[in-house]
Amino acid sequence: MDFDALFSDQLDLLKKEGNYRIFAELERQSGAFPKAKSYDKRSPENVTIWCSNDYLGMGQSQIVKDAMKSVIDTNGCGAGGTRNISGTNHHHVLLENELADLHRKEAALLFTSGYVSNWASLGTLGSKLPNAVILSDSANHASMIEGIRHSRADKVIWKHNDPDDLDRKLKAIGPNRPKIVAFESVYSMDGDISPMQEIVEVAESHNAMTYLDEVHAVGLYGPRGGGISEELGLSDRITLIEGTLGKAYGVMGGYITGSKILCDFIRSFASGFIFTTALPPAVAAGARASIAHLKSSELERKRQQKQVQKLRSDLDRAGIPHMNNPSHIIPVMIKDPVKCKMLSDILMRDYGIYVQPINYPTVPKGTERLRFTPSPMHSDVDIDHLVNALNVLWKQCAIARVVA
Ligand SMILES: *Cc1c(COP(=O)(O)O)cnc(C)c1O
Repeated sequence: MDFDALFSDQLDLLKKEGNYRIFAELERQSGAFPKAKSYDKRSPENVTIWCSNDYLGMGQSQIVKDAMKSVIDTNGCGAGGTRNISGTNHHHVLLENELADLHRKEAALLFTSGYVSNWASLGTLGSKLPNAVILSDSANHASMIEGIRHSRADKVIWKHNDPDDLDRKLKAIGPNRPKIVAFESVYSMDGDISPMQEIVEVAESHNAMTYLDEVHAVGLYGPRGGGISEELGLSDRITLIEGTLGKAYGVMGGYITGSKILCDFIRSFASGFIFTTALPPAVAAGARASIAHLKSSELERKRQQKQVQKLRSDLDRAGIPHMNNPSHIIPVMIKDPVKCKMLSDILMRDYGIYVQPINYPTVPKGTERLRFTPSPMHSDVDIDHLVNALNVLWKQCAIARVVA
């Protein structure tokens, strides 16, 4: 059987739709965030990254680099095993304590990524709680969807950010089954924020547990970077808060926080926790330094918010349509996969601006977009250069503008 022919049939289909992904080969330049060296011969050698999830540039912070280097020197590189067999290191425990404190929970549990933390935790909750039902917001991230699917628990999808729909669906389930309400705080594609207070109240009124993904909010919102749940003073009413160490904290790894017994339950039953090598101790130490820094420093958050505001108002002035939302994520809507990819290519080739086109299946067809994430290190000059480039392209490509 010609397997390669079967593979390329499907790839050809993807290419025809304009949804085939080409990665930009870059080398980030530590100390020069958000600049990178490009290895693509068609683009300038130095480019500005406009779509990083290292939202605050912490991945290049001296504090984080020092913490990682010093633990490499004292502990070496790898963890040496799974947490279960020889892999639990002092730095993992310190990081879990830091995370529990961040969300003011009793305990935390580390995973190798945010994806794995969602997949493993929802998978375990849904399969181990007898007769459980998981109520999932319709815009939830793939890692939650896969975790729920893997659990084989009954799943009910409720309308995105709609507490009334959640209420109706909870009511229909009846009082005696364990119910888990799974949702996010900041949704990364539209940059919208969930009505957390209302969702928590609805869940409480039906005795459901709440499972909150704060991946795009930790480090960025709340006085200590504890996310939207901290900003709204709701963390103690949420059963489980999940997050990543790979986005605003600039390193890698995922986690959950909650009661001691909840974390012990996941630790004891989740295959995705038990059977995989633990994070390198230096990675844990770097993440901990990053979290500790952002607990006490508002500087990075304040400056990021300022640059987000500047880009938004400059886009408005140029009549470039972008989604209005209360977060740090600025989606510029193109609504066509081929145009979206073309604009991204031209921005890179002619302007040294790197922004990845966001196409199906990451977003629904017809809502293709360029997604900009200004950081504290994007200068006013960077922003001017971006808006000028978009202005020229909007003229050339005859894309609709907003009439002020
Ligand atoms: C990126 C992302 C994750 C996965 O986190 P990683 O640490 O990158 O694996 C989980 N949830 C959401 C909403 C995400 O956007």
